[in-house]
Amino acid sequence: MIRFEQVSKRYPNGHQGLDNLSFHIRTGEMVFITGHSGAGKSTLLKLIMCMERPSSGAVHVGGQNLRDLGSDDIPYLRRQIGVVFQNHQLLFDRTVFDNVALPLIINGTPADEVGRRVRAALDKVGLLSKENSYPIALSGGEQQRVGIARAVVHKPALLLADEPTGNLDPELSAEIMALFEDFNRVGVTVIIASHDLPLIARLHHRTLTLDQGRLLADGES
Ligand code: ADP
Ligand code: ADP
Repeated sequence: MIRFEQVSKRYPNGHQGLDNLSFHIRTGEMVFITGHSGAGKSTLLKLIMCMERPSSGAVHVGGQNLRDLGSDDIPYLRRQIGVVFQNHQLLFDRTVFDNVALPLIINGTPADEVGRRVRAALDKVGLLSKENSYPIALSGGEQQRVGIARAVVHKPALLLADEPTGNLDPELSAEIMALFEDFNRVGVTVIIASHDLPLIARLHHRTLTLDQGRLLADGES
C-alpha cells in the first residue's frame, strides 16, 4: 500500500525532514509513527498525501509512484485517503452533520447519498444523536470523533492521523485509538503519528520510530 524507497526531504530553509528513509506498509496494517518533536513524523504523512514532494527517493502509494502524479491527479489520490488532525479543524459555524458532509459535498456526492453516508459515519463514532449540534457544544473527545467521522465518510482505503490524541486525556485517547482499531478491523490501512509512547505501548501494533528523519526502529512496541 505504501512504500518509501530511500526517501529524503530537505526543506528550502535547509531543515532535514527525512533522511534516507525506507519502509513498506501493507494493505490492512495498522502502524504507529513515533519519535521526538522534529523527528519527521508529519513530513512522512505529508509526503504520502502529496502535500510535500521528496527531495530524493521514491514514495509509492497504492502501487503508484507519486512522482508520476501531476497536479490534476492529486485530488484523486486524496479521495482515497482520510486525514485526522490534532486540532480537528472543524468549522464552528456549521453543524456536526455539515462538517462531516463536507468531503462528500466537495466531490459531488448526490444529496440522498450524503445523508446516508454522514449518518453511517456518525453512527460508527457514536455521535448519531449529535448531528444537529454545533461543535462548540461538544467535548474535546466528541469534537475529535467528529473529525474522525469526517475523515472516513468517503470510505477511504487509507486513514492517516497526525497526533490525533494530542489534546485528550488518557481515557479519551484510548477511546479514540479503539475507533481507529475498529476501522482497521474492517480493512482500512491506518497510520498514526504520535509521541504518546505509553498509549502506543499498550496497543501492540507495528511502530516505526524516527529520529532526525531516520528510521531508528521498526517493530511491535
Ligand atoms: P515531527 O512531526 O516529528 O515533529 P516534522 O516532520 O514536523 O517532525 O519536522 C521534521 C523536521 O523538518 C524538523 O527539523 C522541522 O523543523 C522541519 N520542517 C517541518 N516542516 C517544515 C517546513 N514546512 N519548512 C521547513 N522545515 C520544516
Ligand atoms: P455504506 O452503507 O455507505 O456502504 P457502511 O455501513 O459500509 O456504509 O459503512 C458506514 C461507515 O463506516 C462509512 O461511512 C465509514 O465511516 C465507515 N467505513 C466502513 N467501511 C469502511 C472502509 N472500508 N473504509 C473507511 N471507512 C469505512
